Amino acid sequence: MTNSSIGTNLTGLAALVLCLLPHSVSAHDQAADIEDNATWSIAIHGGAGTMDRDKMTMEQQVDYKAALQAALDAGTEVLRNGGTAMDAVKAAIVPMEDDPKFNAGRGAVFTWEGANELDAALMDGATRKAGAVAGVKAIKNPILLADAVMQDGRHVFLSGAGAEEFAAGAGLETAGPEWFATDARREAIERMKAEQLSAVDVDYKFGTVGAVVMDQYGNLAAGTSTGGLTGKRWGRIGDVPVIGAGTYADNRSCAVSATGAGEYFIRVGVAQEICTRLRYRFAAEIEAAQASVPLDTEGFPTYVVHGSEFGLSEGQVREEVDAVMDEVKELGGTGGVIVVTPEGHAVFSFNTSGMYRGRATSSGMNEVAIFTGE
Ligand code: ASP
Repeated sequence: MTNSSIGTNLTGLAALVLCLLPHSVSAHDQAADIEDNATWSIAIHGGAGTMDRDKMTMEQQVDYKAALQAALDAGTEVLRNGGTAMDAVKAAIVPMEDDPKFNAGRGAVFTWEGANELDAALMDGATRKAGAVAGVKAIKNPILLADAVMQDGRHVFLSGAGAEEFAAGAGLETAGPEWFATDARREAIERMKAEQLSAVDVDYKFGTVGAVVMDQYGNLAAGTSTGGLTGKRWGRIGDVPVIGAGTYADNRSCAVSATGAGEYFIRVGVAQEICTRLRYRFAAEIEAAQASVPLDTEGFPTYVVHGSEFGLSEGQVREEVDAVMDEVKELGGTGGVIVVTPEGHAVFSFNTSGMYRGRATSSGMNEVAIFTGE
């Protein structure tokens, strides 16, 4: 190789940008080659908040863990069978929407006016296509409506009556108010009004559900679904369906789903901020790795560090994720995120005393947890 060709290959960032390419979409027809060594990762959450061991009975803990495990297993099953990240996200979220324990679909919190208004979003990291819905009242699984919006592709974000009209055209299953309403959530809105409590004080926790996935084709996806905050008014929309706030996925960096006081997550742009930080951190780290490669006698690197053989460590990912959650905290916000990266790291970060959560990977990790330090 001539000096000039080596020099051209390594003209600074341009070469490194090329090295980033393996971070992007892999074709499904590569499946046969990689199936034996299939690498995948999934993380789920069912909301963050004040979760103290002494405030939850052992029976409640067992119930929540069983529900989280069922959702995690549903997503894992898709991934084990060679399914896509997007299908795994939906498979994990639908059972949590149907489970009245979580604040999504059935069991959603009540608005000030006594309705259940649901928000949901999905994003595909390979194409950066996204679908989101806000304030829907009669769609059994809002995450599937977000999916239909994404598939349709004409718009990204639909709300209220228009979203319901679109859902009817897409043939989605509907449900009456009695499906979504639960006594526990009704009691919460009544207590909020009687005792003039804030949404956080009345619930002590957020019950939004979400999933982030990396599939064996290297593609990422994120999804989140919620009833929002107890006593929300005036058509309030939280972070969940705001692409870049509560939900984001980009194959070059990560997939994120959030839960918490949505207003703060919108103001920080949490999900996209995490992804952007990871994208730049990857570029910086690969550049540093290249700079440490020994030079030949003519002063050119003996080796080009390639994106496919390089990845961020879990610790590096955690640093960036925690830094963004620190920003939320600095503004006064509480909550948490789940993040999956192209390296397959499945990371949680939350500034509350607990977060209903679970993660599983192809390397054998499979766990669900509730409290800090578990
Ligand atoms: N983030 C949601 C919202 O603000 C609430 C939650 O996480 O439970 O709408």
